[in-house]
Amino acid sequence: MLTIGVLSLQGAVAEHFLQIERLGARAIEIKQPEQLTDIDGLIIPGGESTTMRKLMDRYGFIGPLKKFANENKPIFGTCAGMVLLAKKLSGSEEAHLGLIDITVTRNAFGRQRDSFETTLNMHGLVQTIPAVFIRAPIIEEAGEEVEVLASHEQSIVAARQGNVLVCSFHPELTEDTQILGIFIEMIKDAQKIA
Ligand code: GLN
Repeated sequence: MLTIGVLSLQGAVAEHFLQIERLGARAIEIKQPEQLTDIDGLIIPGGESTTMRKLMDRYGFIGPLKKFANENKPIFGTCAGMVLLAKKLSGSEEAHLGLIDITVTRNAFGRQRDSFETTLNMHGLVQTIPAVFIRAPIIEEAGEEVEVLASHEQSIVAARQGNVLVCSFHPELTEDTQILGIFIEMIKDAQKIA
């Protein structure tokens, strides 16, 4: 059985657990860097990226997470998780993990559209997916190695580069498990290569 960790420092953790278990994998809460050796793939959930970053520093997660990615273990970042994985943040010198070659703008939809739900076409999926955006970031620019997976009103909202998958929205807040399905396939592929 595959084991998927959910970084559980802050943010929307419980809903990911439900989806992981629905797809027949085991879900565990990751609260210490040493636990990364127990999992096949990691989800960095939505929440508040500045707070999550502070906690990542406090618990010594930055180096171990980069090592985890360099060992070709898959990581999936949703919303704040995407902000934390990006190589560049627009309007800021500082970036966090830098594991996917994208430039991200935080809170990109402005106040009036703070939160909304829509339906998206996603590359590689036959059916559309429901997508819940909550003070969501967008991908302003994607490097050559990055595969764009979905856009909303001309903005890129889902992408993949190698073992790193990101989306601006919260798939775990819907009943639809298709994106998690993509992530599980990435984990299985990574294990075939290893
Ligand atoms: N706006 C938040 C941030 O930049 C992300 C919001 C979310 O994860 N729903 O951290």
